[in-house]
Amino acid sequence: MTILHADSALLPEGWARDVRVEITPSGHIGHIATDAAPGTAMRVATLLPAPANVHSHAFQRAMAGLSETRGPQGRDSFWTWRQLMFRFLDQLTVEDIRAITAMVQMEMLEAGYAASGEFHYLHHQPGGTPYDNLAETAVAICEAAQMTGIGLTLLPVHYQFGGVDQRPLAPGQIRFGTTPDQFLKLLEASQKAAAPLPADTAIGVAPHSLRAVAPDTLREIAKTAQGPVHMHLAEQVPEVDEVEAAYGARPVTWMLENCTPDARWCLIHCTQMTPEETQLLAATGAVAGLCPITEASLGDGIFDGARWLESGGRIGVGSDSNIRIALSEELRQLEYSQRLRDRGRAILAKPGGSTGRRLFDAVCAGGAQAVARNSGRIATGALADLIALDGSAPDLAGRSEDQVLDTWVFARDDRLVSDVWSAGRHMVQQGRHKQHEAISAAFGKTLARLSSAI
Ligand code: ZN
Repeated sequence: MTILHADSALLPEGWARDVRVEITPSGHIGHIATDAAPGTAMRVATLLPAPANVHSHAFQRAMAGLSETRGPQGRDSFWTWRQLMFRFLDQLTVEDIRAITAMVQMEMLEAGYAASGEFHYLHHQPGGTPYDNLAETAVAICEAAQMTGIGLTLLPVHYQFGGVDQRPLAPGQIRFGTTPDQFLKLLEASQKAAAPLPADTAIGVAPHSLRAVAPDTLREIAKTAQGPVHMHLAEQVPEVDEVEAAYGARPVTWMLENCTPDARWCLIHCTQMTPEETQLLAATGAVAGLCPITEASLGDGIFDGARWLESGGRIGVGSDSNIRIALSEELRQLEYSQRLRDRGRAILAKPGGSTGRRLFDAVCAGGAQAVARNSGRIATGALADLIALDGSAPDLAGRSEDQVLDTWVFARDDRLVSDVWSAGRHMVQQGRHKQHEAISAAFGKTLARLSSAI
């Protein structure tokens, strides 16, 4: 049994001093005592629950920094990014996917995320032929998770069509495609792939989007899904227009009328909602899976965070394209987008409250819900998903309680994260993952090969 002593810890009922936290051999939080003596426990300055990263496409990490050139015609949008992604897809091997995913998961842990919801759609060989094991690439993701010790929620994706009109997949999309029957087999094979992983591993389903999945299939998945259901929704204006033209309703309105989203659902992006849609979707209990850095990178638009939280909406954050994996920066970008739009400050805070605290509490609870993980709070019986912040950092000197979170989120970065536990696995120590050198070296090799091949 590991015992931690925190000078200060964020418990569900608020900040407490001199907190003794037991981590059981099963990776759960055991007994918690406040106003305790340090004794021989491992001492940390500030102890926080570690949130889950709710949305990632790990392989895209290899493209980070390569899609910032403007396309040849007019306004650029997805153009350079999509062209680059398709070139990458012709090259990526299973070994590449394993190396890139390990890097992503390691960076998530070093940023303070204890778990990752991997929205996994890169299923087949280059050219689109399935591997002998339908879930071969899921095996690579699971192996990466075993190497990094992150808590994995695997979300195999069903991706059937190239648009709402049910056109066939474009050449760049054929590694993703499944028929509904093939998807069921893939799901079963993915469950087998995840079976050797620790008990905190979860599995859900991910109908890709309203563009890629037929309405009947989506209703069927919604009805029969066992675990969490993740889907991209209302990310860009052209997608809203396409869905409205085909189905006679905007994406969020169509979802509300046809799929009855509830607390099992995590809807990714939701950047394009009317005020009414925002209120109605927030009231369902579904989590909005926000990816503020990627949404800014791709020019998606601004999520209506103020109205969503006022309406009782739940949020999680994810790193999506993994162009940059940074927990504090996702929260800062989310708040700053609201400030720039509304020309105000502390938009997402409650009256009289801290912005960092409000956001951190929200993504701990919403993240755990979205990836079906018993975590997000320092409480007896929950998984020991924990972050310790660096008590020796000069920027935290004299800061207490919520000021610590505000300093981390708005003034500093994830270098303040000194230790991270995922289900009790102490993977990040003094700011570095235990396998940092080996994982970085393998990633660098992969990146060099891919860069010369595309
Ligand atoms: Zn995505």
